[in-house]
Amino acid sequence: MKRIVAIGEILVEIMAAEPGEGFREPLALTGPFPSGAPAIFADQAARFGQPAAMIGCVGDDDFGRVNLDRLSRDGVDISGIRIDPEAATGSAFVRYRADGSRAFVFNITHSASGRIVFDSAARAVLEQSHHLHVMGTALFAPAIVEVVLEAASLIKGRGGTISFDPNLRLEMLNLSGLRAACEALFRRCDLFLPSGTELTLFTDTEDEDAAIAEILAHGVSAVVHKKGVMGASYYDATTRLTQPGFAVDEVDPTGAGDSFGATFVSCWLRGMPPGTCLAYAAASGALAVTKLGPMEGASTEAEIKDFLADRNKRAAP
Ligand code: ATP
Ligand code: MG
Repeated sequence: MKRIVAIGEILVEIMAAEPGEGFREPLALTGPFPSGAPAIFADQAARFGQPAAMIGCVGDDDFGRVNLDRLSRDGVDISGIRIDPEAATGSAFVRYRADGSRAFVFNITHSASGRIVFDSAARAVLEQSHHLHVMGTALFAPAIVEVVLEAASLIKGRGGTISFDPNLRLEMLNLSGLRAACEALFRRCDLFLPSGTELTLFTDTEDEDAAIAEILAHGVSAVVHKKGVMGASYYDATTRLTQPGFAVDEVDPTGAGDSFGATFVSCWLRGMPPGTCLAYAAASGALAVTKLGPMEGASTEAEIKDFLADRNKRAAP
């Protein structure tokens, strides 16, 4: 089976127990939960049974151990995760507002996650992998962009494939160099996995149909457009498919896109038909939102199959 490697931030997430406005008073908090979009992706791929590895950096602290323990327990190869004794593991404090939007306090840029390097361990992991997954959020520092571009060249040089999920808040694009770095990955990817308005981030047009034609003309093999609770659509040169979202009780939406992406890429690497990849991925995204904590809703192939069988049974007359 083809092996996936994800590069980028590894964080803990600490959640305010009650919704409200930010963090300017003492609050009840829950966590630390293992997190970081690329780490959630790697974890979901491994839970699904796909060989998966992670390249990243954590501190020599409990927040790092929370992640290393979870990832290795779920079957992710963590040999490419460096432990930096001089930096603390990254963190994200999150509090939901009543309207479902989120306030964050991030410690990423100056955390261990900012200290990813292309060392011999990272090279060894890449040399055993067939597919590289990159999230736009990982490209927050020029040194990391360099590592990611080198990894992309190595994977492409071995005949491998690349998926790219911009995973950006629009305001992040103002970070120096981030837009150019995202565009560089967009130009190199085989699978493009945007969410909502990210579809037209790098196109000349804002019209969705024209944007998809433009992206496919650039050499991207397939576009998978995520639309939250609405589901997702798939486009390649000859096929257009739409998968409605599965109705579930949403507990915590964080991590849906990462889980969806990991399951889609795993199925795609196994050569499954695009409609099946899309259904499995949508089930994975739906299952992800039913659990509190970003990585807690990662599911196995058996759980996804059971979920789909149950939905098909309910849909049958
Ligand atoms: P993230 O917020 O993790 O970055 P994203 O914006 O990249 O996520 P979404 O579109 O929110 O991605 O979610 C990915 C997929 O997961 C959707 O296309 C859908 O299939 C499924 N999904 C997400 N939210 C829900 C939900 N509330 N109910 C059912 N399915 C959902
Ligand atoms: Mg979303």
